[in-house]
Amino acid sequence: MPIRPLPQNLVNKIAAGEVVERPASVVKELMENAVDAGATRIDVSATQGGLELIRVVDNGGGIPPGELPLALASHATSKIADVDDLFRVGTLGFRGEALASIASVSRTTIASRAPDAAGGAEIECVGGRLGEVAPRGTPPGTIVEVRDLFFNTPVRRKFLRTTATELGHVSEAFTRIALPAPNIHFTLRHNDKIVYDLPAGGGWLERIAACFGRELAANLIRVESADGEISLSGYAANPSVSRGNNRMQYFFLGGRHIRDRSLQHALGEAYRGLLTAGRFPVAFIAMQMPPELVDVNVHPTKLEVRFLDSGRLYSQLLSMLRAKFLTTDLQVQVRSDDEPSAAHDEAQAAQLRQQLVDWAKGKIASWEEDDGKNAQHADDNSRELTAPGGFDPTQPLQLQPLGRNEPYPAPGAESANSPPPRNDATRRALQIHNRYLVTESAEGVTIIDQHALHERILYEHLKGRVLSGAVETQNLLVPEPVDLSPTEAAAALENRDLLARLGVRIEPFGGDTVLLSGYPAMLANIPPADVLRTVLEQIIAGVKRPDRRDLLDELLHAIACKAAIKAGDRLAPEEIAALLEQRHLVEDAHHCPHGRPTALVFTREELDKRFKRI
Ligand code: ADP
Ligand code: MG
Repeated sequence: MPIRPLPQNLVNKIAAGEVVERPASVVKELMENAVDAGATRIDVSATQGGLELIRVVDNGGGIPPGELPLALASHATSKIADVDDLFRVGTLGFRGEALASIASVSRTTIASRAPDAAGGAEIECVGGRLGEVAPRGTPPGTIVEVRDLFFNTPVRRKFLRTTATELGHVSEAFTRIALPAPNIHFTLRHNDKIVYDLPAGGGWLERIAACFGRELAANLIRVESADGEISLSGYAANPSVSRGNNRMQYFFLGGRHIRDRSLQHALGEAYRGLLTAGRFPVAFIAMQMPPELVDVNVHPTKLEVRFLDSGRLYSQLLSMLRAKFLTTDLQVQVRSDDEPSAAHDEAQAAQLRQQLVDWAKGKIASWEEDDGKNAQHADDNSRELTAPGGFDPTQPLQLQPLGRNEPYPAPGAESANSPPPRNDATRRALQIHNRYLVTESAEGVTIIDQHALHERILYEHLKGRVLSGAVETQNLLVPEPVDLSPTEAAAALENRDLLARLGVRIEPFGGDTVLLSGYPAMLANIPPADVLRTVLEQIIAGVKRPDRRDLLDELLHAIACKAAIKAGDRLAPEEIAALLEQRHLVEDAHHCPHGRPTALVFTREELDKRFKRI
């Protein structure tokens, strides 16, 4: 084929591939244009996740009728005029290709009127084919409507997900633009229901609270730093409100939301030692710097930028946070690298311990009856365990010994029927550093990670229950409304049946709130909303959606980890005994569900060798 220039329409469609990925991309571009137009109020509405219709109404400067066709032409922009401008962009847009791209893959109408103009005008564009400009009565500002996105590119359309998922992305795009602009009144509606209403003028913290809930906002620590021409300011969350992924790390450069790996890394470093592995800090950081220190023209949707001196920015962010944390009482510091603890964790841990003790005491009392004072022979242990009595499904599960006759269809279930090894003298153990248990065993010395072991025990219990369909749901007397992020809410509603299998029952409640009406009875110790959030984090993190069984497994891990006693929890001797006893009841108890070992064994032989006895 000879070389020939592509028709403009095709060029736009190709560009659309870069800029317009899904309805959320349209929302982003239209909202950016409205912000650039100086609007003080921006109303966004979407129908069917934005697939049917996206409408953005603003009260900004408008477009003169004569310029309407240009607005839809590619590489036509009012925002920069020459190359110099490109390096001092003060607006969100400047490439002049968003509207052209969107209009090439949808049915788009723009109606607009400048505030001082007598009347407005309108233009329509269907799949890139431009109509005539026609007069239209419209309030000052601009209304852009995008219908039937990807109607002429069916392959793209196929890639889109369910309405709820697309709505999640739309909400996220909305939030990213609304967050850094507290002086603009934003609303988002979906299928005529209001999702967000963010009034202007409340300041940044107020805006964050309106987007993510008061609870999160109450746990934010104000941070600020100025180093020459670069200033950073914003909020970093108390480590007690960490997340399972980095989605709640928002960076803004002069009002534009950006992603930057190096800055995310700095954030992680700042929280090092305050969060356990796999947990991510929450932060909202706004950066201001002169335009010559950054190139914003390196990414089609400008999500990424290039900093002239990213090393300097990295250290500035890190030292700002470190310095602040050193002078702030973070509460969790006592638990150092422990699982993040919310305010109620103390009480929760105490309650959990008490139940463990109660259960263990019951056991120990019966040992004493049976054996008098010398109750440490291995055989006793074995007898004790073969007679667990009937299983009461209403009891919190984690404190019950798992009977042999318990349904337990975990992989390798055969071994559940053969008697577990009984030789270890497991009742005596020394707790060290409030996190490890040291016991003598027939082989030598075993050092157990208390959290890892308990987590494993819980995991096996839960798994057995879920697989046999025996999860009891505890109905809440008063269903509890839980405020979620839009993405979480979408994930929750989309996965209601999966949640139900785990014993978590939810109903839609309007907006991003869901009503929690039941939760797994066996998790009586964790606040129900926490169970829900933990599970949703896993669902969202696995967007690629492995098979449901993997997902279920992930969820079980997450719940077990959340419910297990923590490193740093001081255990009473009875609790230790209870834990060790259950240790033999789970298969493969040497590894916690995350794959870390639950126990290390030092053989007697090795000890002898080391002490040069042999
Ligand atoms: P860019 O934003 O990169 O300039 P767009 O394709 O998004 O490119 O928009 C093209 C032009 O249309 C903008 O430069 C602006 O002049 C005009 N425009 C688009 N949306 C609006 C709006 N909501 N209000 C006023 N002008 C707008
Ligand atoms: Mg634009």
